Amino acid sequence: MSIVEDDKLQRVIYQDDKLHEECGVFGVFCNDPEQEAAPLVYYGLFSLQHRGQESAGIAAVKDKVIEMQKGMGLVSDTFNPDVLSRINGSVAVGHVRYSTFGSSSLVNAQPFVSRFKLGSIAVAHNGTLTNADVVRELLEDAGIGFISSSDSEVIVNLIAKNYKKGLEKALTDTIQFIKGSYALVVLTDDALVGARDPNGIRPLCLGQLDCPGQLGGPGLGKSSGWILSSESCAIEAAGGTFIRDIEPGEVVIISRDQVLSFSFSEKTRRAICAFEYVYFARPDSVIDGIDVYGSRIRAGEILGMESAVAADLVIGVPDSGIPAAIGYGRATGTPFGMGIVKNKYIGRTFIAPGQAAREKAVSLKHFVIRSEVSGKRVVLIDDSIVRGTTSRRLVSLLKEAGAKEVHIRVCSPPVRFPCYFGIDTPHRKDLISNASNADELCKSLGADSLAFITVKGLLESLELPAVQSDDKDAGFCLGCFTGEYPIPVSYKHGAAV
Ligand code: SF4
Repeated sequence: MSIVEDDKLQRVIYQDDKLHEECGVFGVFCNDPEQEAAPLVYYGLFSLQHRGQESAGIAAVKDKVIEMQKGMGLVSDTFNPDVLSRINGSVAVGHVRYSTFGSSSLVNAQPFVSRFKLGSIAVAHNGTLTNADVVRELLEDAGIGFISSSDSEVIVNLIAKNYKKGLEKALTDTIQFIKGSYALVVLTDDALVGARDPNGIRPLCLGQLDCPGQLGGPGLGKSSGWILSSESCAIEAAGGTFIRDIEPGEVVIISRDQVLSFSFSEKTRRAICAFEYVYFARPDSVIDGIDVYGSRIRAGEILGMESAVAADLVIGVPDSGIPAAIGYGRATGTPFGMGIVKNKYIGRTFIAPGQAAREKAVSLKHFVIRSEVSGKRVVLIDDSIVRGTTSRRLVSLLKEAGAKEVHIRVCSPPVRFPCYFGIDTPHRKDLISNASNADELCKSLGADSLAFITVKGLLESLELPAVQSDDKDAGFCLGCFTGEYPIPVSYKHGAAV
């Protein structure tokens, strides 16, 4: 992690050494019009909290009126029974957001709601539009005002502008106009809509609501509603059952009468973000048929086959480095142990007025278990190295705790390029693998050796299940490793150049 000092506020702001997912989306359609959907969305957002911790929001529709509540912080900071009781209706959508520090404000929190002559809609978006500036300018020229800097507001205004053509046409016209990555859940006066970009860069899946309001209880024997979610783990948390992934380029419109699905784009190559499996997604999720936990174990096994080193112990950087460390241990016969523990309660900011206190604070994020590592040759498995700050600190902590050698193994290839599809990436000059070769990097981290999984190895770890293995269009976005993106990007877009 690196530390940025905010003099004015006398706070220390952690920027941990990871790429960050920017959003999670969730939607519920209850067939029973008397059933409240907002509490189920609340449970869903709780399970998507790892995808964004800076703001949360829920919107629901009742008698064609959309009510919304949103706030800064965790889902539990924003919602309590009183707040939830003010969001009534049997159809609801929700959103959790991560943001860069500068754009962290309530105006950018989602869902975005638009109320207009023909109705109202609320949109929750995960992803980034690569042509947001152009679309925003066109809408502003047409007299449409914006309240936020978010490109997600572009989507809500575009759908609202096209709404007089009918919902289906408004959606297809909007979606064909926007470019980039998006998993969308949209709430209208009487429907819940899900859409995934033509390459499926960000995940979205469909679930069936078995027993609304009765978490963990018995099913009702037939569907009593539907769920749309960024990840399958959240469907189960809301009392539903995973049905399938929304296909790249697919729109699903769920209403009282039917569930309508259509494809809005020519068939394109599937290119789901490989980092969803490496780090972003919760390990109990299954995305596009691939079990996230299993893929992390396999990445560790492949890393072990590609770059084994003689050692007494393999440990993982919590949380996502741990399954990979288990896999590495299995493949190489190195004993696995818990050498590092993470403080889960430290937030992104805290008060640390003096320099000494700030330096001390760096050690608050991770603790080394001295008795486990002392006197041993240790392999340290991490999911990624972005700026190198956390790895450098961990090597130093391990050596201070008596480790004889520290060998870093990383279960993603070197991150050398920015992401343009909804992931917060540092400036390219700050990506340490872009600035140094492996030997320089190893030396700068203070490690005894360093190796990354190869791109080929990463792809092998994401082995597709039999059901998809004959899908010649199945693939992954590897843009931040290779610089080759599934859709053209403007290097001027975004700040991450
Ligand atoms: S560029 Fe990297 S982080 Fe961004 S979508 Fe592609 S694989 Fe994911």
